[in-house]
Amino acid sequence: MANSKKWGNIIGGKEDLEGDNHILTSPADGSEIGEVVYASKAKVETAIDSSAAAFENKWLHTSLRDRKSLLQKLAHRVMERSDEYANLESLNTGKTIRQSMLMDIPLGIEHIRYFAEENEFRESRKISHPEYPDTTGEIQFAPMGVVGAIAPWNVPFLMAVWKTAPALLAGNTVVLKPSHFTPLTALELGKDALYAGFPPGALNVVTGSGDVVGDTIAKSRKISMVSFTGSTTTGKRVMSAASASVKKVTLELGGKSPNIVFADCDIDHALKGVLFGLYLNSGQLCESGSRLLVQSSIKEEFVSRLSKLLEAMKAGNPMDMTTDVSAISNRKQLDKITTMVNEGIAGGATLLYRKEIQAIVPSGGLYYPPTIISSPNLGLEILQEEIFGPVLSVVEFRDEKEAIEIANKSDYGLAAGVWSKDIEKAKRVASTLMAGTIWINEYHLLSAAAPRGGFKQSGVGRELGLEGILEYTQTRHIFVNKGFNDQDTVAYGLVIAEGE
Ligand code: NDP
Repeated sequence: MANSKKWGNIIGGKEDLEGDNHILTSPADGSEIGEVVYASKAKVETAIDSSAAAFENKWLHTSLRDRKSLLQKLAHRVMERSDEYANLESLNTGKTIRQSMLMDIPLGIEHIRYFAEENEFRESRKISHPEYPDTTGEIQFAPMGVVGAIAPWNVPFLMAVWKTAPALLAGNTVVLKPSHFTPLTALELGKDALYAGFPPGALNVVTGSGDVVGDTIAKSRKISMVSFTGSTTTGKRVMSAASASVKKVTLELGGKSPNIVFADCDIDHALKGVLFGLYLNSGQLCESGSRLLVQSSIKEEFVSRLSKLLEAMKAGNPMDMTTDVSAISNRKQLDKITTMVNEGIAGGATLLYRKEIQAIVPSGGLYYPPTIISSPNLGLEILQEEIFGPVLSVVEFRDEKEAIEIANKSDYGLAAGVWSKDIEKAKRVASTLMAGTIWINEYHLLSAAAPRGGFKQSGVGRELGLEGILEYTQTRHIFVNKGFNDQDTVAYGLVIAEGE
């Protein structure tokens, strides 16, 4: 992989290098990484056909045990190449190499293993029908068929794992579309699935723009389900495009997650958690704790100490193991962050802190400095909408009731954090927050066993855990009359005469 400078699409068991070539540059320093072939609409359709054939001819008849065994082999293969994956992930996204080596790649490997080893998912369960004692029922969790997976650019390897491992485990074949900005580790995963022994077409990976590749997937009649992660705006478009063929759609969308710090917290611990909660990956994580809600009595001390911690973060080349500050993954995103912050400040927000990094980061790279802002006007766009960058907004609250009110006053509901030594209070607050994941005295930590997803406009459906696997299934009920006798002599009101 390290010497490969050209990546093609993975279609029907082969890397297809034919098509439009695009040069990828690293957001870390602007250097050229290599060329990627974008799939045309026709190539995407070929990939869908190949996944449909793989589903019908092979994967549907492959046992759950064998599917798990292949996932185990895939985890092993990625593990052997983990340094290459980490290097490629950081070059392509601009995230620090330390993060790729200690988080994205090892967590992705662990999560493939989780799906290879978990034993909660059963392909069927038995029921009895209380109304009809002589009958039994079998509820089967059948695969959907071909799943179209559309992924964003912020955590490309993890996202590829989350969208493919549970879907394959549940018996589906997958056409994965990584972001055209960051397709490299997903394409490598497609190659390694073949190396591990997955049948051709079980996992096809096609990259290119959303308007061509994503739209073809969303509209295809041969795809039964779309699993999408990205912005709320694009998620709505995908949902609408998928409706023409009545596809199942799961959406993991944007957030504006509150990190609620009570005065009775362990301040040292909470400071680290708030920093980790927002500045990891330079804020380009969907569940980032981008709204700091801090109790009035500790606000000044908290913000001042947080600024000092940010001051101590090391900016530099993300490919250097000692660097803390990740680059921004693409120019479009850097422009969005810059515009939102500038408009927020013009609209009355106050800049509380901004780290000086420009002289230290590589000149050809894309960077936004870790920043803290505040405003008493909670209606400002910058306090309501996802920035997806290293910009924390600070809002103070007086008491528990007000904290909950402010936290829930959002169109989004992906995640939240609660910091307090009073665990009962923290749990009480957590249970009233309208969000899919709530950490108490913690942030960001992900478990493959725990379903994640959003309330409100943060999404529909869940990823990971048993609930995440079940999303990739459809329920079939088989009703068996064991006794060969009529269960209802009046057949729900229709009297059927005996004899001819
Ligand atoms: P998008 O939501 O536009 O992109 C997500 C994925 O959808 C990409 O693979 C993209 O393709 C694809 N896509 C785009 N248009 C279509 C379409 N019409 N049909 C099908 N698929 C499509 O995210 P952006 O990259 O534009 O980022 C914008 C904002 O989204 C960010 O600023 C951030 O706020 C949010 N975001 C949220 C994420 C999350 O995890 N919830 C992750 C990333 C971003 P391609 O980009 O290759 O053209």
